[in-house]
Amino acid sequence: MNDHQLLRYSRHILLDEIGIEGQQRLLAARVLVIGAGGLGSPAALYLAASGVGTLVLVDDDEVDLTNLQRQIIHTTERIGQPKVESAKAALTQINPEIDIIAVRERLAGERLAELVASATVVLDCSDNFKTRHAVNAACVAAGVPLVAGAAIRFDGQISVFDPRNASSPCYACLFPPGAGFEDVACSSMGVFAPLVGVIGAMQAAEALKLVIGIGASLAGRLLMLDGKYMEWTSIAVARDAACPVCSHRHDSALPS
Ligand SMILES: [Zn+2]
Repeated sequence: MNDHQLLRYSRHILLDEIGIEGQQRLLAARVLVIGAGGLGSPAALYLAASGVGTLVLVDDDEVDLTNLQRQIIHTTERIGQPKVESAKAALTQINPEIDIIAVRERLAGERLAELVASATVVLDCSDNFKTRHAVNAACVAAGVPLVAGAAIRFDGQISVFDPRNASSPCYACLFPPGAGFEDVACSSMGVFAPLVGVIGAMQAAEALKLVIGIGASLAGRLLMLDGKYMEWTSIAVARDAACPVCSHRHDSALPS
């Protein structure tokens, strides 16, 4: 780190749990953020400001007027631009010293597998079950930890699925594919603006902790927020021995 970086990241470096070594881990990390919307906005802003060396942003959508109530990385001026380009412009202004890779695609198949396998941590900031399940399966296959967030109306939730940890469930253990969970589009249901800020910022926090290797992650726990009454509920989630995605995980056997 040069003198300029020591100053930029000084408030991290002052933390005993992070220090120069932890900050260097952040600078060496490559974090994949799927979705540059309500959750992806605050998550990417904090990851960039914190000095994550390479941020890969994925979204195939464009900035729309209806996004601006909660997707705080975008601006009125950038309506009509690809979201990943708009986000890159905002992040570059905050931290021009990191690499930001904008991927304007709906990721699937080999391309998804490739980007997940090259990431230190993946953040699922998408808004539909199809993407969530595809991202989860790619993370399990590659052994890369996943920080998954969701928010609708006044309800938010967040968890970490860490395939490096034998006792950690995957997303499909918790929400089995084909179990009848319906997609609830925020276009029809509405979402309380700061809720995505709370959950997205927590996703960034979990990702930074995983990269640095401090504390305990949310692996094995689902945190749910009732934003109307500001009440958090934490429930323990276990691996499902019959999970179609991770039950045959070769790298770590199901704990007995
Ligand atoms: Zn599973």
